[in-house]
Amino acid sequence: MFLKKLELFGFKSFADKTEFVFEPGIACIVGPNGCGKSNIVDAVKWCLGDQSPKSLRGDQMTDVIFNGAEGRAALNMAEVTLIFDNEDFALHSEYPEIMVTRRLSRSGESEYLINKRPARLKDVRELFLDTGVGVQAYSIVEQGRIASLLSANSVERRVVFEEAAGISKYKARRNEAMRKLERVEANLLRVTDIIEEVNRQLRSTKRQAGIARRYREHLDSIRDMRLALSARNYEQAREKERQFRDRFEEVDGMIESQSTQLDELGTVVRDTEIEMMRVEHDISDFRERL
Ligand code: ATP
Ligand code: MG
Repeated sequence: MFLKKLELFGFKSFADKTEFVFEPGIACIVGPNGCGKSNIVDAVKWCLGDQSPKSLRGDQMTDVIFNGAEGRAALNMAEVTLIFDNEDFALHSEYPEIMVTRRLSRSGESEYLINKRPARLKDVRELFLDTGVGVQAYSIVEQGRIASLLSANSVERRVVFEEAAGISKYKARRNEAMRKLERVEANLLRVTDIIEEVNRQLRSTKRQAGIARRYREHLDSIRDMRLALSARNYEQAREKERQFRDRFEEVDGMIESQSTQLDELGTVVRDTEIEMMRVEHDISDFRERL
């Protein structure tokens, strides 16, 4: 794997589209002070995803866009493309040639492309993890970097050694896994809260269900009692009706026997009257004869 080509357009002092073609072996860029040698290194770092304007020797990211020179108006966009030979598949990709592009517009719109297809910064970083290529890696040693590496503390130096040893990929994965774990823990906490809330609702619902059940039981027993009461009232009414009927029949019998007696007495009275009339007739007969 090696860097085959670098294309610059609108990046720092490179207002015109500029190409650097590198052959295998050592390439050297020579020029007077301020001609833009370090800008080339900045372009490589920037394209690999450098997020620090300071490390790119500016105040803000848009400072990398060509901002005008004598007789040249400023541009609105910067674009850098790195083309790597990947015949040995040292980079994490199945393609034998890899093209990485970064673009930035003055409005702040930024994009990355891998082989002309939109990609995330993460994809670009993963492509170069543990290959020695990268912003944090040891492949770019700029002006003053050797001095700072020698005077760096052990933690800072460790980053360079870890990249060389090829373990930074696993470290990055571990960090991501830890972040995921934290998210899962936060979710778990939320789920526990929700379970607690649902349990509270369940308890209150159970209480309400108990009250409703007791209400229904009471309602049932009231209905049973009402039925029993009605049945008893009905029985009592029937009993009274029977008694009244008996009484009525009794009185009816009495009335019948009384009226028979009355009829008999009527006959006796009539007979007696007839007898009386005959006796009176006899008396008046006697009187006449007398
Ligand atoms: P030295 O040999 O001193 O290290 P160098 O060749 O590394 O010099 P650079 O630092 O790469 O030079 O280039 C500096 C030049 O780039 C300056 O002339 C500066 O004006 C120009 N430059 C930097 N940023 C921009 C920009 N955004 N637009 C236009 N020109 C820029
Ligand atoms: Mg320089």
